[in-house]
Amino acid sequence: MTFADIILPLAQPCYTFAVSHIPDLKVGEAVAVQFGQRSVYTGIVLRLHNNPPKRGKVKPVLKRLYNFALLTPKQIEFWSWMASYYLSTLGEVMRIALPSLVKPHAQSEELYIPYSLPTERVLRVKNMPTAEEFERLSRRAPRRAALLSLLNANGGEIARRECSADSSIISALIKAGYIECGERECKPQVQPISHTLLPTLSEAQSRALERIDSGLAVCNVALLHGVTSSGKTEIYTHRIAHALAQGQDVLFLVPEISLTTQLTERLQQMFGQRVISYHSKLTPLRRTQIYMDMLLTDAGRLIVGARSALFLPYKNLGLVVVDEEHDSSYKQTEPSPRYHGRDAAVMLASLHGAKTILGSATPSLESFNNAMAGKYAGVTLMSRYGGSLPPKIIISDTLRAVKRGERKSHFNKELLDRIEERLQRGEQIILFQNRRGYAPYVECPRCGWTARCPHCNVTLSRHLKSSTLRCHYCGYSVTELQYCPDCKTSQLEAKGFGTEKVEEEIATLFPSARVLRLDSDVASSESAYNRIIQHFADGGADILVGTQIVAKGLDFKGVTLIGILNADNLILAPDFRAVERAWQTLLQVAGRAGRRDKAGEVVIQTSDVSHPLFAALSEQGYQHFAATQLRERQMFNYPPFSRLIRITLRHHIPAHLAQAASALGVSLRAKFGSRVLGPVTPLIDRIRDQYIVQIIIKIESSAPFSRARAIVAEIVAEHRASPTAKGVAIICDIDPV
Ligand code: ADP
Ligand code: ZN
Ligand code: ZN
Repeated sequence: MTFADIILPLAQPCYTFAVSHIPDLKVGEAVAVQFGQRSVYTGIVLRLHNNPPKRGKVKPVLKRLYNFALLTPKQIEFWSWMASYYLSTLGEVMRIALPSLVKPHAQSEELYIPYSLPTERVLRVKNMPTAEEFERLSRRAPRRAALLSLLNANGGEIARRECSADSSIISALIKAGYIECGERECKPQVQPISHTLLPTLSEAQSRALERIDSGLAVCNVALLHGVTSSGKTEIYTHRIAHALAQGQDVLFLVPEISLTTQLTERLQQMFGQRVISYHSKLTPLRRTQIYMDMLLTDAGRLIVGARSALFLPYKNLGLVVVDEEHDSSYKQTEPSPRYHGRDAAVMLASLHGAKTILGSATPSLESFNNAMAGKYAGVTLMSRYGGSLPPKIIISDTLRAVKRGERKSHFNKELLDRIEERLQRGEQIILFQNRRGYAPYVECPRCGWTARCPHCNVTLSRHLKSSTLRCHYCGYSVTELQYCPDCKTSQLEAKGFGTEKVEEEIATLFPSARVLRLDSDVASSESAYNRIIQHFADGGADILVGTQIVAKGLDFKGVTLIGILNADNLILAPDFRAVERAWQTLLQVAGRAGRRDKAGEVVIQTSDVSHPLFAALSEQGYQHFAATQLRERQMFNYPPFSRLIRITLRHHIPAHLAQAASALGVSLRAKFGSRVLGPVTPLIDRIRDQYIVQIIIKIESSAPFSRARAIVAEIVAEHRASPTAKGVAIICDIDPV
């Protein structure tokens, strides 16, 4: 072949280079090229062909970097799908897909290759003695002859560490010119499984597994809807063992890095050293090693990871498990490609001919709808493992409590009484409030002034521990103000409440209770997070106050009461998914209660007790709830009955932004008509000094989505290049969440 299209680490299409001077260059190999006037880049061969580019002079590839391909053909397929589906480029996919030590980048001057495979010392035959000489050697120095025979039997080369001969024997053979020392790249080995001890499944679990098995015989994807604590992980392990036994790779995805540690340990007890956790918080070297190990050896690993684990070089992928499939953390929002980890996982599996199991206690309406339509095999498991009872849900009316004088600070009597009772019995409590900090805003009671971020259109939150007012969008912070800077007469009042305030109030109401807080302020690192979790699990505190963080996958034996302090702000979010999300969050938090022998209670405080969401909260209520929600979505033509493309425009000058957005809106309308909504200003219309405007395009499911995406890409590219949109960032998000 004479030409190669090379993926360069740029948000641009691939460029063509001449390669006939590089022998046997393969697709997927890393190379260095000169690009632009002076810069040298490393990149990856996407395609080899004989078609000279129509324009411009073709430069030759400078050098190949390794003597093996960095990408498998399947990875190239996966990257290509991702770039095309999410209106991204292969260069952008490459930037998030490869671990940094082997990731192509712009080179400064000298070509620098930061990673090479580890090597080992070897002994190698140089000149084999003649039969006669060998005969003589066998008689006079049998151990030297034995080493030569060993080398011969191993194709003329063995690792020094595998050779037990004395160094005197080796030196003698070297001196005689028979052998020499050398080095070679050492290939990692997959550890065989010594023993697999799978948990024995309960009867309900076995039935679910059977239905997954039979479902996967006809569908590629199974959706396991299993209530919290039903033992979904145990069910997965049986399928995992099956795949590993056939020499296949398995990918087990979780939505958050913090969930990998516990899970990896649990799976290692069953599958030993084959279990490897992979995510973006590992060191660059560790990530590169895992990548290279997988690239250079055969399949047979169980990778536990966050969404970046989708990009590893699987050799023979047999099974993908996506746990907590409903979780919106699976969606990458920044940078491009803005992909959904769950959807990409289903795609990856299908490229490999592998099966996917999606699991959740609160499935997304998208997946639920796919199961209803027979696209996925739907399996439900409604009983908890070990027969523990589902938590009892109590909807507590905040308005009524206020009226009756049964509310102290942010707690209704119904909740306070139960906290008291648990504390007396020595049981644990989780209090959930989906806001961190002390208060979401501070206000002057006299003139109404509120503290706002100078860079974003939001109020500043008050943080007690640091005595600051902080912006949760850009991180801006100022020391707390004592007096209103506007009328200068009055002290500022904190309005609303976050986890810090809950912590403070609980300490006042129950002075002897040991209170612990878990939110992103205190769990700033993985180890801090693990410390808090462990401390609570060990009984080091009575009450855990936390944000969403507490809702995810944690398993506390001693918790028998959950308090949800304000469900209203979950329901009221301005998003067509708000009710679905609220339902998921409430049930996930509720699932932390009474996971063993004690039945738990969940008190949900709200001022909107008649909201249909609350009737659907008993775990059996899902079918009905989902059906109603789906009908509503269908009526307003929202996903899963349509596909959305969200275009976000950003610029620091509002007038310029408005002009660019309206021009783009006009072009889109010319093609898509009334499918285009906007431009509209979102609720928070300025972040980090950038004003924000959005356009949504709704494509009905019956229309060809790929064509719609292509048209959008074309129009957006035109506008990016036009003077009207000069300097305006235009970002496309496919299937936004
Ligand atoms: P889920 O993910 O469905 O919420 P888990 O898989 O975390 O549930 O299981 C809940 C608890 O029950 C865990 O502590 C788990 O070890 C235990 N468990 C579930 N199934 C079994 C089983 N078959 N054998 C032993 N323990 C089990
Ligand atoms: Zn800000
Ligand atoms: Zn004032």
